[in-house]
Amino acid sequence: RSAAAIADWSGPGRTADGHEVAVLANVADGTSARTATGYPVEGVGLFRTELAFLDRTDAPTVEEQTTLYSEVIDAFPGQKVVIRTLDAGSDKPLKFVTQLNEANPALGVRGNRIALDHPEIRATQLDAIAAAAAKSTAEPWVMAPMIASAAEAAEFAGEVRSRGLVAGVMIEVPAAAILAPAILAEVDFVSIGTNDLTQYTMAADRMSAELATLTDPWQPAVLALIATVARAGRDLDKPVGVCGEAAADPLLACVLIGLGVTSLSAAPAAAAAVGARLGLVSTEQCRVAAEAALATADPAAARAAAAAALAG
Ligand code: PEP
Ligand code: MG
Repeated sequence: RSAAAIADWSGPGRTADGHEVAVLANVADGTSARTATGYPVEGVGLFRTELAFLDRTDAPTVEEQTTLYSEVIDAFPGQKVVIRTLDAGSDKPLKFVTQLNEANPALGVRGNRIALDHPEIRATQLDAIAAAAAKSTAEPWVMAPMIASAAEAAEFAGEVRSRGLVAGVMIEVPAAAILAPAILAEVDFVSIGTNDLTQYTMAADRMSAELATLTDPWQPAVLALIATVARAGRDLDKPVGVCGEAAADPLLACVLIGLGVTSLSAAPAAAAAVGARLGLVSTEQCRVAAEAALATADPAAARAAAAAALAG
């Protein structure tokens, strides 16, 4: 894993035995999407749409949003683009929709839950995504953040499919991971948000430096939930991505593939190191490493077990 091998890695993502793993970028707007094209990524696995609207006091119009979404879609012609609906609230409050003075914003009306009292905001966004899709030959995938139940997934998928779009949800609430088979039955794909999945599984604020051991995605409980989701994806033959920063850790990326995850999306600067590492290991080694990590009691032991399995 020399620096040169990483610098030279140009994709596409695949293990040493040729198992394909799309290595994708997390982006925030047209500018970051165009920047991402300078890295060896095969598309966008997470477009965090709320980040473009953090300063807005009024809701963006369909036209404004269509322009924004087209910019990102057009940066990756013919490639995958996964657009997430507004993940407003908690660490990303939006002035035009987020409730003030919630006692526990991380457990409040955030993510897809904003559609409870603002259905028009989500409807407008889906209209804009559909309009951007209609203007291109691309078929963007659309996913909702903070889904906690199969009923929520079904309701969202209905809204998305009625506009002719491909529907998925994020798995970042433990309830959704536990019931992944029921959720996957309602949608076309899922993407695991390991930042929030870890926060909610470990009951530890993702922003807290003091709790860094608890908010480590190598926590075996988190790996076990990811395994549950990946198994459900394999059973139903539907894609299961990871779009949290766990996908930026080359060693953990190998474990995620070993657990059965089908694509990885993270900050584009991480793509080469992840892709180069995957190219050195077989799917079977990844599977063994995943099993070894799952059998440990803490993040440090999980890392050591995976590293040992992949070195052999
Ligand atoms: C996540 O929670 O892992 C995720 C990808 O979403 P965000 O970091 O935007 O909450
Ligand atoms: Mg999240």
